Amino acid sequence: SIRFENVSKSFGKTKIINNLNLSIEKGERLILLGPSGCGKSTILRMISGLETITTGNLYLNGKLANDVDSGDRDIAMVFQNYALYPHMTIEENVGYGLRIHKEKKDVIRQRVKEAIDILNLTGLEGRYPKELSGGQRQRVALARAIVKRSDFFLLDEPLSNLDAQLRGQARKELVRIHEMYGQTFIYVTHDQIEAMTVGQRIALLNGGDLQMLDTPHNVYHRPANIFVAKFIGSPS
Ligand code: ATP
Ligand code: MG
Repeated sequence: SIRFENVSKSFGKTKIINNLNLSIEKGERLILLGPSGCGKSTILRMISGLETITTGNLYLNGKLANDVDSGDRDIAMVFQNYALYPHMTIEENVGYGLRIHKEKKDVIRQRVKEAIDILNLTGLEGRYPKELSGGQRQRVALARAIVKRSDFFLLDEPLSNLDAQLRGQARKELVRIHEMYGQTFIYVTHDQIEAMTVGQRIALLNGGDLQMLDTPHNVYHRPANIFVAKFIGSPS
């Protein structure tokens, strides 16, 4: 589980997140939705420990995590810009998280193969990231995250570079992966349709404030305010 308790985040004098209270159950699939610049990536970066919390508390599986080192949090993250290692092949990129955790060689081989199969990357194992298309890189980033079996799975617009057809398939694949492993899953998007189809609940942010936290059905049919209605395109 993940719990934000009165969390605010500022960069210099600018407040980006304003007194956020948000609880995500273990195994839940939550969508973080909102316009560009509203703080979605910053929230993921606070969970993964890449960004400090200015005030308030963050709990991971019930334990206060504000001061826990990024490397000591059991998190798999897919970054908005993929962040692949340019000097490693696809296979080495996918297995990286397992190698640094000193997993057994045959476990690494088997999980890497499975992830490469699931993400449709077979045949590209020996290539380097610069030899792949944007969509292929995005799938490598996903494969690298799913091999880890972390408790927390954070995805920052993981499908933004795929064409419409691949995106539809990948969405279903992600839901299936989540159902297989049952991690606590946070998925950032600014695509309303993606939010409605992938999320069990949606957290909608704007201007540093959480505007609504509810099921896709309720967010669509019972928007909490005009911003929510307009952003989601609710029938009026
Ligand atoms: P997008 O949908 O465009 O990815 P986002 O919701 O992920 O947007 P963030 O990247 O979390 O937005 O940024 C939120 C705000 O914080 C933006 O106004 C951004 O300019 C600002 N910001 C982010 N990182 C920093 C930083 N390191 N220093 C200063 N300001 C920052
Ligand atoms: Mg972002």
